[in-house]
Formats: sequence, structure tokens, C-alpha cells
Amino acid sequence: MFDTLQDRLQSAFKNLRGKGRLSEADIDAVAREIRVALLDADVAVPVVREFIANVKLRAAGAEVSQALNPAQQVIKIVNDELVTILGGETRRIRYAKTGPTVIILAGLQGAGKTTLAGKLGLWLKSQGKSPMLVAADLQRPNAVTQLQVVGQQAGVTVFAPEPGNGKGNPVKVAKAGLKEAQRTLHDVVIVDTAGRLGIDAELMQQAADIRKAVDPDEVLFVIDAMIGQDAVTTAQAFLEGVDFTGVVLTKLDGDARGGAALSVRSITGRPIMFASTGEKLTDFDVFHPDRMAGRILD
Ligand code: GDP
Repeated sequence: MFDTLQDRLQSAFKNLRGKGRLSEADIDAVAREIRVALLDADVAVPVVREFIANVKLRAAGAEVSQALNPAQQVIKIVNDELVTILGGETRRIRYAKTGPTVIILAGLQGAGKTTLAGKLGLWLKSQGKSPMLVAADLQRPNAVTQLQVVGQQAGVTVFAPEPGNGKGNPVKVAKAGLKEAQRTLHDVVIVDTAGRLGIDAELMQQAADIRKAVDPDEVLFVIDAMIGQDAVTTAQAFLEGVDFTGVVLTKLDGDARGGAALSVRSITGRPIMFASTGEKLTDFDVFHPDRMAGRILD
């Protein structure tokens, strides 16, 4: 991911090499190239606009520096702005002070929610937690089994609906799962919810109802980083429909242009908290805006 963007930015910076000072024309030229590079990477238009305005403003106001030549100065400014649009600081999970921490996963079908439940479970275990997965995706016939398989691979308990404890009703399943976690002393509950291929009012309501019923500490919106410009409408729909406290980017290992990754934080105002980079349960980590910016500019 980001290979093309990376190349394009490097070539934009190359034109500044050997310049003693940046003229207004130099700044305009490099800003134009960065703008096109970001748009071609599918970064959302309003995000690009603000990004370029900030880069220009800072480049024009940059002091003549002894330590950095003009090219290095622009690279530093672009790096700082990338860190900013990616959210600045790393945002950690806010664990509940008492009782189990409840995390709901929401997103379109195929975004990688079920896989993420396993990844997050495994990661939480490495943090000394005792997680439990709750199968509240009752829409897809295979979803419950898939979660059970993932849970088994991760070595994490899965609470799945059985006759008598809410079969067919995801809200009841989520509530029963939480109760079971309290009883069995699991300290984090991850609720997998149903997704559709497109945004769907009924399922959005279902996720909102689950949210209301279990009063979560975190609602994570899971988004496939390869979906391009659709990221904006999808993220906005989930923000309005369920609201969420954080974002998980999946499929960052793909070779698509990755604009979703660079847009979603600015568009929603919610932090990117985790990143998924493959199909294996260990292809997963906490998201660090500075490291991601560094990788784009490497
Ligand atoms: P859900 O419908 O949101 O629950 O999505 P799934 O967890 O079933 O994932 C959909 C597909 O994407 C599966 O084939 C996963 O193996 C795959 N997948 C999930 N996360 C990643 C990732 O980070 N990288 C890659 N390459 N594939 C992923």
C-alpha cells in the first residue's frame, strides 16, 4: 500500500534539491504535485484541500534553517501534516474501571470484522487480558461458525447463541454474552455485529440497538483500506448510524491506493486505533500515526 504515493511524493521533493531558498513559485509547484499525488491515492477531496493549504502556509512561513535545506524542510512539513491527518497521538483502548470492558465491532460485510475479533482477542491476551468473543452477527449463516473457528485459533472463548439464550436476536445475544463474561470473569468482551455489502438502515439500527443494550466502552468501526473514495460515505453513514469511538483499518497489506487510510480520521474526527496487515491472526498492531507517516515518506 502507498507505493505509488510514496514514489510520487519523492519525485515532488526531488525538484527542490539544490535550491538555496524556496520561492513562492517553488512552493506552488511542489504543493501542486503533492495535491495530485494525494488525489490519485484516493484521499478525500476536503482532506487534500486542507492538507495542501497547511503545507503551503507552513512552507511560506518556514524560517531559513541552518540544519535543513529547502527539500528537507518541505519533507518535514509534509511529514508533520501526515501525522496530523492520521490523528497525531496513538490512541489506546479505554478500559472500563469496573466490570468487563465492552468493545463492539461494526462495519461493512467483508471489511474484516470477524478476523479482527480473533486478532484483537489474541492481542488482548498478550496484554494480559482475558477476552471473550460474542457472536452477535446472526445475519450471515456462517458468521457464528466463522467466529468460533477464529476464536479457537486465537485461543479465546467464544459466546455463541444457542436455543434459549437469544437465538435470532442479536441484542439479546450481546446482553447474554456480557452477562456470561461477568459470570466467568472475562475482562474484555468483543461483540461481532452483522454487516452488509452496502449501507443498510435495518442493520445500522441493529448495531445501534446493541450499542444501547450493552453500553460499550469502545465501538470500533472496521474499514477496508482498499475501498477508495467510498470510504468517506461509508464512514459517515456509520458515524451517523451507530457512532463509533475509534477506527480499525484492515487490508493495509493490499496494493490499492490507500486513500481511505489517510481520509477516515479527518472525515470522522475519530482516531485510527489499530491496523490489520494480513490474513494471519498476528498481522495486526496498534496504529501509530508517526510510524505510518514515516513509512509513506520513507
Ligand atoms: P467480515 O465480513 O467483516 O466479518 O470480514 P471477514 O473477517 O470475514 O474478512 C473478509 C476477508 O478479508 C477474509 O477472507 C479475511 O481473511 C480477509 N482479511 C481480513 N483482514 C485482512 C487483512 O488485514 N489483510 C488481508 N489481506 N485480508 C484480510
